[in-house]
Amino acid sequence: MELKGKVALITGAASGIGKSTALLFAKEGAKVFLTDINEEGGKTLVNQIEESGGEATFLKADTSQSQDSEKSVAEAIKKFGKLDIAVNNAGIGGPQKPVGEYEIEAWDKVISINLSGVFYGMRYQIPAMLKNGAGSIINVASILGSVGFANAAAYVAAKHGVVGLTKSAALEYSAKGVRVNSVGPAFIKTPLLEGLDEELLSHLVNAHPIGRLGEADEVAQLFVWLASDRASFATGAYYPIDGGYLAQ
Ligand code: NAD
Repeated sequence: MELKGKVALITGAASGIGKSTALLFAKEGAKVFLTDINEEGGKTLVNQIEESGGEATFLKADTSQSQDSEKSVAEAIKKFGKLDIAVNNAGIGGPQKPVGEYEIEAWDKVISINLSGVFYGMRYQIPAMLKNGAGSIINVASILGSVGFANAAAYVAAKHGVVGLTKSAALEYSAKGVRVNSVGPAFIKTPLLEGLDEELLSHLVNAHPIGRLGEADEVAQLFVWLASDRASFATGAYYPIDGGYLAQ
């Protein structure tokens, strides 16, 4: 049990990578505090974890609202007494449009959830971890945190922002015991990809040298290591997990 006795806050936990992370963290002995805007999905997941003998709680919270991020941390500490791990995972894809046609409201929405949401999360998670004397923060970026992708400017900009934000926070807090890293998954089979057409999906499969898309659990496995005390020297870094996508 890699995470026995640890308390982990996971945002966007009701689906995809967040859900796999919640299940795996609980299996590894963590008490998981789950947040999402999808209340039904979050509550179902709590039941699933409890039925397997794990400890979990759900709070409906929108990561694009700073007060929700503040409340998430406060409630996690009220429930479980401390905060050791945070996985800032909530994210959306946004429309597929070139920059010259991208709707302003869509840009604002993607940036507020995918970038500001990560800042709001850390803004309240870090002080809680400092009180505890230690912590590990995992910010979910993407391969698109280091390379571009046509027709996804807001997503690409937000994910590049998450990588930079992560580095800054790591410079500020690593010596104080809080490790901060970002992870860059390639294309992973989750509901996030549901909007993509068949032609683009088969093109995407071919863009991964491993010959397939990733599974959410394969990403969660890396999160377990980063969250655990075994990753004690890992901070300020960007970890692609991408079936070879960025090697080309
Ligand atoms: P998903 O759509 O399956 O899950 C995302 C979850 O976030 C959903 O449960 C959704 O309700 C929640 N969410 C959306 N907006 C929210 C908000 N404002 N506040 C709180 N929760 C909110 O997607 P996923 O593929 O599991 O994505 C998880 C993270 O992984 C995202 O940050 C995404 O950008 C990143 N990512 C995904 C892929 C991929 O190919 N699936 C690749 C790289 C990175």
